[in-house]
Amino acid sequence: MSIEIQSIAKQFGSFTALDKVNLKVETGELLALLGPSGCGKTTLLRIIAGLETPDGGQILFHGEDATDTHVRERQVGFVFQHYALFRHMTVFENVAFGLRVRPKHTRPNNTEIKRRVHELLNLVQLDWLADRYPAQLSGGQRQRIALARALAVEPKVLLLDEPFGALDTKVRKELRRWLKRLHEEVHVTSVFVTHDQEEALEVADRVVVMNKGRIEQVGTPEQVYDTPATPFVYQFLGDVNLFHSRVHGGFAQVGEHPVAGDGAVAYVRPHDIELLREPAPQTLVAKIDHVRAIGSIVRLELSLENGDPVEAELSRDAYAVQRYASGERVYIRPRSARVFAEDYAI
Ligand code: ATP
Repeated sequence: MSIEIQSIAKQFGSFTALDKVNLKVETGELLALLGPSGCGKTTLLRIIAGLETPDGGQILFHGEDATDTHVRERQVGFVFQHYALFRHMTVFENVAFGLRVRPKHTRPNNTEIKRRVHELLNLVQLDWLADRYPAQLSGGQRQRIALARALAVEPKVLLLDEPFGALDTKVRKELRRWLKRLHEEVHVTSVFVTHDQEEALEVADRVVVMNKGRIEQVGTPEQVYDTPATPFVYQFLGDVNLFHSRVHGGFAQVGEHPVAGDGAVAYVRPHDIELLREPAPQTLVAKIDHVRAIGSIVRLELSLENGDPVEAELSRDAYAVQRYASGERVYIRPRSARVFAEDYAI
């Protein structure tokens, strides 16, 4: 089922949580709402769910106005960060719950419930935990059961609010891959809230980058990462070096982008900083202050002649060939960059 969000506005007192937001979620896609704390992601998700009423605008489910439809009639499933399972019920009963409380005429019989619950537990690969109680599960297992429970009632839309937010990094990473595979199997229209850019880029079909109650960009993970529409998106999606044309006049040509005039800023990702040992046109002199190996990459902290810091990143392999050392003098230039006007508000 597709969801159309048309000019949705929400105020909390004088605070604008959502400023006339427009967005279309396509049928079957997994969309991530990404942005810093307080940007309005959860509010938008709650409005889609029907848990919060917008002050203006409309929501269409499958082309039909659902703005005033009650949460129970929207056929949405939820998974929240701390979506407590019922503690006194087994895993099996937790998943069965939504089916057992259905109105009589749509309630499946016990055999059917059993079949359906085991099917879902198999889907989340936890059928072997059916008789356990929530307290006997790990955090990651609990969230997978919460997801099975949300899917039990065959929702038309699945809404996930930081579902892995409370888990440690390793489990989080496993679960997001798992969620992506699960979504490829189930293909229910899903909206996923996160403030973790890596999570959004890895899991989502499309990413919606939000800031201060507005949408800055909507695009595939590649689009938002490689061609950020605004300085905010650029900075939010990864580390970045800023070169002001006013300061670094000699650095005026950045790849194919001329940094014209006074008020331009070139945004360059650390892995797009090229290091040279000999001077070349359009390079800046830099000193290597620190070299740090972080997993599969090597990060170099440099400073320019005026003291401005610059970060560069190399693969371990590239580093093994070049062997830069701290204290060394190098020449840098960007391989690619995006240029925005200096007065572009972030
Ligand atoms: P987080 O990642 O921290 O959950 P978020 O992007 O999901 O952030 P929201 O929860 O949507 O942000 O909140 C947006 C803003 O609206 C915040 O500044 C928040 O304090 C405010 N807000 C949310 N709910 C209410 C409420 N019921 N009353 C007053 N202000 C609220």
